[in-house]
This record gives sequence, structure tokens and C-alpha cells, in this order.
Amino acid sequence: MLLRRCILLAALIYLDLVSAATIQKRGSLIPVPTPATPRTWKDRVRAVFFGRSEQPLQKKKEQTNRRHNPLSHYVHDIVLRFNISGPSEAAAMSDAINTLYLDVWSATSSHVDIRMPRGTVPLLLDVLPESMRNAHAPLVQSLADAALETYPGGVESPLPHAPQAMLQPTTGERSDILFFQDYQPLNVIVAWMKLLESLFPSHVELLTIGQSFEGRKIHALKVGREKSSGKKKKAIVITGAAHAREWISVSTVCYLAYAMITGFSRDDKGIDTMVKEFDWIFLPTLNVDGYVYTWEQDRLWRKNRQPTSLAFCKGIDLDRAYNYHFDAPSVSSYNPCSDMFPGGYPFQAQESREFANWADSLIKNGTKIVSLLDMHSYSQEILYPYSYSCEAHPPDLENLEELAMGLAKAIRIQSGEHYEVTSACEGTGFAGLPGTTGGGSMLDYFYAKMKVHYPFQIKLRDTGSHGFLLPKENIVPTGAEMFNLLKYLSQFLLDDGSPTAVIKPSDEL
Ligand SMILES: [Zn+2]
Repeated sequence: MLLRRCILLAALIYLDLVSAATIQKRGSLIPVPTPATPRTWKDRVRAVFFGRSEQPLQKKKEQTNRRHNPLSHYVHDIVLRFNISGPSEAAAMSDAINTLYLDVWSATSSHVDIRMPRGTVPLLLDVLPESMRNAHAPLVQSLADAALETYPGGVESPLPHAPQAMLQPTTGERSDILFFQDYQPLNVIVAWMKLLESLFPSHVELLTIGQSFEGRKIHALKVGREKSSGKKKKAIVITGAAHAREWISVSTVCYLAYAMITGFSRDDKGIDTMVKEFDWIFLPTLNVDGYVYTWEQDRLWRKNRQPTSLAFCKGIDLDRAYNYHFDAPSVSSYNPCSDMFPGGYPFQAQESREFANWADSLIKNGTKIVSLLDMHSYSQEILYPYSYSCEAHPPDLENLEELAMGLAKAIRIQSGEHYEVTSACEGTGFAGLPGTTGGGSMLDYFYAKMKVHYPFQIKLRDTGSHGFLLPKENIVPTGAEMFNLLKYLSQFLLDDGSPTAVIKPSDEL
């Protein structure tokens, strides 16, 4: 008991120091709270929205950016869902999107969700065919309010939360983990990862898999128990935040790591087997610069923060930057201002390149990566290769489909939520929008070039009611349904493709 208290006390001091150091080092653009400035994340953001900030939040060099004062920009924005019927309507919509530089939130063969300023709606309707002018409905009416709700609120700072979150499992109270009551900023996540490594050294290791364009470390947690034989274990890699604004992907990867780390050696044979048989690599924030940018400057930023050939349009889409069927320059997304800009050449995006290099050296050192789960949002889908073309089919399509259906079932058993299973090309809707493709994806690259047999892109909650601005109440249930999915995946791989056990619902943390 005394030993545990000492460890926790040391942990508290450690996290406090790390957090303070992280803030100082990073030179956060949002000031550490003082009596004269707003004290919560929500207050800070609200100050920007409604002009009550006493300190400018943007660096001078950012003021020339197209997204000058970007949060106030969303006050006038709305998200609309347009129904699409037939190729001619899809082509017209695609043209309109490219002409008006609209932000596509989601696209399927039957609908497209678009964020735009209210004032742009008549312009868009003008260029669409008559048949489409009434075929739309609002998804998110007040974007600014919805965005505001995703920031932590009601506390002086998010930092004091993390140590308490760490205390929960050791007291046996697993129902109210404060860390998962809110989305968390990068400095808290990194401090939390360091703490997990120090508290659970027997099966947790903090890795640095590379460096971002702006010089931040890209961290991952490796969870696994070394085999007594010293034999290399197969690895399963789980990534979040390839797209910065998809915050639920970050919290979900953190949740999965936490559930596995704290569930080990607690009389759950399933979790014990997972930790003993595989090395799990949890990488919550691949697009680390973009993620920080969503907290400090633009909640809906998607790409990384690398300069492009156009000084006023920064950023490369990390999920289109890989060297497999990289989009040709003729494709419409080959515009640095587009949210889907793949870069001028394969692997120009630094974070994608670093991640691929890290995986490559892991494989060359003898570790086999058997599965990759790339978490995104939104639309509740489990997507398998290929992304680049709907005509090309992977050689082991049947196995991929079978496993994906099983994963969807594991989710359904846990929470009742329905996740669609389809190919990435169909699911991401590029087929439905002429002039765009899903080339250069992480999914296809790891499948075709890295020979990872079971790669999936998983689009998490919801199906469009909140889109990227998913309320934080979904963090725990989304994490729990994905943890049941992990259990099924592990069982499937151990049983060599024919899981014998039915995966029952797990308790939420
Ligand atoms: Zn995404």
C-alpha cells in the first residue's frame, strides 16, 4: 500500500514537471492561465469566437495565412448533406466543390456532406442542376457552437486532470476515468504516455517513431510482454489523427492503449493473451503538428503544416501522400489549397514518410506487422483495400471481408452500433466524385508495399449528426466498442482466420 502511494506520488510530481516543461518548451500559443486571461479551453476558444481575447492567439507570420482568425470564420458556417442520384449529379457536385473550394466532410455514392459559409449556399445551389436544389438538409446548424462543445470545459486547465485519471485504475474505480471525459491536447497526451511507461514498465514502452515537419516527436506506446524464448512477436499497429480534426481517433487510440495496459494481469485471460502474443503499437497523433494546430488555431484543420508551392496554402493530406498509386498531377486534388492535396511527389509529407520508414525498419529487423488499424472519422465504416480504385480487387479479398465482417459484429455485440463494411474506394466516396481518387493512401501502401495482410481504415462515430465535432460523451463508448473489436482481431489472428470464441461485450473503463 505504502509502495503504491509512493509510486503515485512520484507519478504526480513527474507528470506535473513534464507538463510544465512541455508547455514551456513548446511555447504554446495559448497562454498558461493567469487571472487576466480566460481560464478554460472553452473560455479561451470562446474568447476567439466572440472577440474577447486580451491577447492575440496567432503569430504574426500566421496573419498572412488564408485562415486568418479562423475560429471566428466558423460562426457563419453550416454543414449540409446533399443527396446524390446518378453520375451526372455527382459530376456536377464535384465541379462545384472544386470551383468553390468547399470542404467535403464525407462523400458516399448517395450523399455528400459539405461545410460552407451560409452565404455560399445560394452560390452553390446556382451552379447545381435543378434536380439537386432541394435535395439537401442541414446536418450541423451552428458550427461554432458545436466546435466549442468539443473543448474541455469547467476546469481551470486540462492539466490537473491527467494525474487523477492515472489514479483511477489503481483504486479499482474504472467507471469515471477523467482522462476520457474530455478530448485532450497534445502536451497532456504525451505526459500521460510517459506516465504509463513509468507506471507499467513490465509491458509498456514509449517509442519515438519519427519527427514532424515542425520538429515535434511522433510518439507511440508499445504494449507487449517479451517472450521468454526471446522470439520476435508479430506486431499490430494502430494509428490516429492522420487527419488532424478527427479528434475521436486520438482519444480512441489512447483508450485502447489504456484498456490493454491496465487490463493486463487483472484476471482477464483474453487481455493477458493479447499482451503476451503480440506487440501492440498505439500511435495516437500521427499528424502531430496538425493536431496541435486544431487546438490552438483551427478546430477543423485536416492536413499537416508543411509549406507547399503556394505560400498562402499550407499542408499536405497525410493519407494521400504514400508511394502507392500516388495521385497524378492531373487529378483535381493536386491543388495545394485543397484539403486533399497529396503533395508534389510521393512522401513529400514528412510525417507519412517518417512513419513508413519506421515501419520499414521494423520489418527489416524481423518483426512482422500482421495488421494495421488506421482510425479516422466519421461515418462508422470498416474499410479494406483498395482505396485507389474500385475496379482493382486485393488477391485475398475474401479473407479481408470475412475479418471486417467479424470486426463489425464485435462492435455490434458491444454497443449495438452498426459499422458498414466495404472497400475503401467505395467507403471514402472518391468513386462518387469524378476528378478525385483515393490514391496514395496509408491503407493501400501498407497492404501492397509492406505486405501487411490485414490493414483496415476504420471510420469511427458518428454517421453525420455531429461529424468531426463529435460530443465528448462518445469517447468512452467508442473506445469500448473498438476494444471489443481488438479482442476479436487478436482472436482471429491467433486462430489463424477462424476465431473459435464468441467475443462478449466488455465492461467500459
Ligand atoms: Zn480521415
